[in-house]
Amino acid sequence: MLKKPVIGITVAHCQEELNTFPRENYVYCIKRAGGFPILIPPLDDPGTALETLDLIDGLLLSGGGDISPFVMGENPERRIGGCLPARDLSELRLTRLALRKNIPILGICRGIQILAVAAGGRIFQDIKRQFPRSFLHKQTAPRQYPWHDVEILESRLIQVLTAESIGVNSLHHQAVEKVPEGFRVNALAGDGIIEGIEKIGAEFCLGVQWHPESMPEAEHSMALFKGLVTACSYFGCE
Ligand code: MN
Repeated sequence: MLKKPVIGITVAHCQEELNTFPRENYVYCIKRAGGFPILIPPLDDPGTALETLDLIDGLLLSGGGDISPFVMGENPERRIGGCLPARDLSELRLTRLALRKNIPILGICRGIQILAVAAGGRIFQDIKRQFPRSFLHKQTAPRQYPWHDVEILESRLIQVLTAESIGVNSLHHQAVEKVPEGFRVNALAGDGIIEGIEKIGAEFCLGVQWHPESMPEAEHSMALFKGLVTACSYFGCE
């Protein structure tokens, strides 16, 4: 048996996505936080999803493209980006099962959106059109640099980060619009865009809109990965 908590990282698997959404930073951060990373490609049947959850102690929903509006039961906005429905369906299914099983979850960027939709919330398909007073959330600086501040609200997240405000990078044009029932907002940008959500009462079930894996030298980034791995060690004592 592995002694380290096993963290399943959902990933893109087609070449086009691999070029845009690198995996190595997630792997690096989970290893550095004391976890054992395994990569989960899109899975196409529910039975496999259940078996996959038996292999892992925690779930990391990684960044990536937009969620297909069709999969969400919505009409497409004009500025929707690249979608991969097979990945959407697989991650939504895994997340719903993981929520039911109550295993620790960390959602990053696209991952917070998957978490929100899986739990019954809703997202802005395109912030600029659907929330016009927002500022620019798609940074023009390289991804390792912070782009805007985020206020951390009273929450599980503030216990993990031990900071009331942090500078984060921002590489999204979508965001959580409606927080799922049983969840709360834990981080907000200055324009009112939701930058973090968490499941109320859970040991560790968080989503953040920024990319901590791209800023591994920031204390608040590693705090998130360590928080996930620690929650798995705690949860895994059966
Ligand atoms: Mn942002």
